[in-house]
Formats: sequence, structure tokens, C-alpha cells
Amino acid sequence: MSDAVRVRFAPSPTGTLHLGGARTAIYNWAFARRNNGAFILRIDDTDRERSTPENTAQILRSLRWLGLDWDEGPEVGGEHGPYFQTERHGHYVRALDAMRTSRAAYPCFCSAAELEAKREAARANGVSMGYDRTCRTLDAAEVASRLDAGTPCVWRLAVPLERGPVVVEDEVRGTLEFPIEAMDDFVLARSDGSPTYNFASVVDDAEMAISHVIRGDDHLTNTPRQVLVFEALGMAVPRFAHLSMIWGPDGKKLSKRHGATSVEAYQEQGYLPEALLNYLALLGWSLDGETTVVPPEVLTANFSLERVSKNPAIFDPEKLSWLNGTYLRDLDPDEFIARMLPWLERSELAIAADFTSRPDWYRALVPLISERVRHLDEVADKVAFFFTEPSIDDAALSKVLAKEGARAALEGARAALDRVVWNAAAIEAALREVPESIGAKPKDVFQTIRVAVSGSTVSPPLFESLELLGRDTVLARIDGAVALTER
Ligand code: GLU
Repeated sequence: MSDAVRVRFAPSPTGTLHLGGARTAIYNWAFARRNNGAFILRIDDTDRERSTPENTAQILRSLRWLGLDWDEGPEVGGEHGPYFQTERHGHYVRALDAMRTSRAAYPCFCSAAELEAKREAARANGVSMGYDRTCRTLDAAEVASRLDAGTPCVWRLAVPLERGPVVVEDEVRGTLEFPIEAMDDFVLARSDGSPTYNFASVVDDAEMAISHVIRGDDHLTNTPRQVLVFEALGMAVPRFAHLSMIWGPDGKKLSKRHGATSVEAYQEQGYLPEALLNYLALLGWSLDGETTVVPPEVLTANFSLERVSKNPAIFDPEKLSWLNGTYLRDLDPDEFIARMLPWLERSELAIAADFTSRPDWYRALVPLISERVRHLDEVADKVAFFFTEPSIDDAALSKVLAKEGARAALEGARAALDRVVWNAAAIEAALREVPESIGAKPKDVFQTIRVAVSGSTVSPPLFESLELLGRDTVLARIDGAVALTER
């Protein structure tokens, strides 16, 4: 095998792309990019009942959204295709034939009931091995006649017991040793001819010349089995790197109980792909132990398996949300607008053409809002009053507009704003004179104006907001609020 780095992400399309899978994909991708290697995407869709084209499409979409690109795989093709396991049946048949010829694989005719009885007996005797290798010792003539008669059988690996332990130098976990005696003669192909995961995966990894298998440590028990299949096929064994699980904040395996776990859900909540990528990359890998903002180009320039941690990583939604806020604030204004517009369109507040017609207005809006949101799904609510007449919420009505002095504050503000030059500084200077002139506290006066123009007691900075709203709109809203104080 050459020294070329070739890695793969091999999702089973039995569900959407979840955070753990995304992290595995990111590590493979970053490793390939760092080492000028190839990142291959393979769809492990042999579970025909649970695999769907919709899931595949969704997984590809989420990977693309995260900014990952693959050199070989669905949509892009490549020299080692096809990249869907269901289209690779012939490859598995040929590999099994080779193993039959070399006697590395043997047929097992035991019925389901017999196998169950063997498992029972093993359990009763405290033996971990489920299958006692009965059919391995059938004589050749017997095997031939059963095969000729078409007796249903599965094909098992003849584990080479004389081989000694399987030792794996895992890139993350160090030396792992698996005693050979504990290894079952596991099934390679089922009676319908379909390959098991452990067999198909090895045939594909071998034929696709995968150099490093980087995957979750839930596959650790499969690894020694797969090593034996590589050896039986006479193929070079790739290097392995097993990633620790991701835990929720409570120390249990990350699951739906901890909130959204699919990449798509984060997309829908207005997370930025580069922020999610950054966050997931740091779940188990670190640049230097302290840097928290690691953009994609820094990741691909620096990723290494040596810096992947053996310990489980804890998923902290609060930290992800914080990081996303950091990314949002750091976007340049036009980029922020580009990311925000789809959300305004979705809420029917604005259309993209609106930005083209008044770009400077939008650019002035950005600093008022980018400091105050952590995800883009919060934007529409916060800026709605710039685009549509606000409805004044009940709390603001009873706490602010119904209060004594509200009317005087609004009328004072109206008079002050009527003649002022229309910019935030001048607006502020004019409004700061109102409290004293009516004998009220500044806080109360400003809050009353805020409610009148935004409908709520919480809004972006007042004076800048007034400037952006424009004099006519502000005065009209103040008049509307005055009417409400009269009830
Ligand atoms: N399809 C397997 C999974 O999704 C791939 C495991 C592997 O990387 O070998 O778990």
C-alpha cells in the first residue's frame, strides 16, 4: 500500500446525520485535508429495511452544509466506486469466493434453533463464545454434498486460532490487544448471500485503499474481527483511530434526552455551519488546549490524531450557543445580512431585494442586532418592529403605557423629535431634555418611548433604533401610543 492518506466516512442511512456522526466525518475530512489525502464518502446501506434515500439525501445535505467536501463518493464519483454498498454486491461475492478457496471461510448449516441452543448452553457454562464452531469440522465430502443439495447456510470466518492475539496500535488509544480465543467464527455472509457489516466494511475499505479507519469507539469490538478479514483477504490492514463517545452534560451517552442531536436541527435553529463545525471539532480534539475559536481553515491546517483525546467529550449546548454568538458577531456586516435575510424572508418581514435597494440602512441595523442574538432564529423577533407595525404586548401596556406620566412623556418626546436633526446623537440630546421638563425620571421616559415604537420593554439601543425607523414612523407610533394612554 502506498503512503497516501485515504480515509472514509461511512454512514448508515438509517437516520439523519447526528452530532456524533458529524464529528466523525469532520475528523476524517480534516485529517485528509491536513495530509493532502482523499476523503471518501461511502453509504453503508446494506440494512435495506431501515435505509432510505431520504436519509441519504439528508446526510449529504448536512455534510455539505457543514462545509465538508469529499473527493470520492455519491454525487462526485471516483475510481473506487460504486460508493453505495447495495451496489457492490459483486465485490462481496468475489471476496467471499476468494476466502472459500483459501478455506478462510466455511459454510455453517446450523439452524436458527440449533444456534439458539448453543448460545443458551454457552451462557449456562459462562462461556462468552456464542458459536462452538461445529460446522468447521464437517468433512469435505459432507460439506460438498450439502452445498450441492442447496442446503441453506451462512458463511463464517475460520478464525485462525494459532495466530495469537490481535494487536492493534490505535492512533488514539494506544496498543490494544484482543485474545484470539475469545473470537467467534463470526458470520461473513448470511444465507441470502448478503454480507454482514464486518465483512462488507472490510472488503470496501480494502478495495478503496483506505489507509486510516477513523470512527467511533462503539466499533472497537469489531476491529479485531475486521483485522482478521483483512488478513484472510491478503490485504494490508489500515491503521485505526477510535474516537471516544460524546456524552451529554449528565455524563450519559448523548441522546435525544439532551435536546436536538441532528445536524439539521441546529441548522434550523440558526446556527452557523462554521460554528457547529468548530464546536464539534473541539469535542475530543484541541488545537493547543485553550483556543476555542478554530475556523475550518485552521482546523484543516492543524488537525492531528495525536491531539485527539481518549476521554469522552461532554456536549455542552450552552457553550455551542455561546460560540455561535461569537461567530455571528465576527461576521462582517454584509455577510451577517446575507445570513440573516433568509430568516427575514421566512418570517415575511423582508425580501432580499430590500437589501439591494437600501444597503446602508441594513448595514446600520447589523450592529444593533448582532450583539444581541446567539442564533439566527432569534433575529426576526428582535427586528420585526423595524419592518412592521408592532403590536404592544400586554405587559408593556399595563406596566408602562398605563402608568401615570406616560402621556406626558410621549407628548414631550413628540415635541422634541418633531424638530430635531434626524440622527442618533441629536435624537439622544433632544430626548435627554424631556425628563427634566416634565419632572420624570429618564428611565421611565425612555422606556415609554421604547414601548411606543417597538411594542416591547426590551429592544435594541433606543436612539439608534429611532434613527433607523425614520422620523415619520417614530412620530406616528408615538401618536398611536398616546391614544392608548387615553383609555
Ligand atoms: N456504517 C457504519 C456506521 O455507521 C460504519 C462504521 C465504520 O466506520 O466502520 O456505524
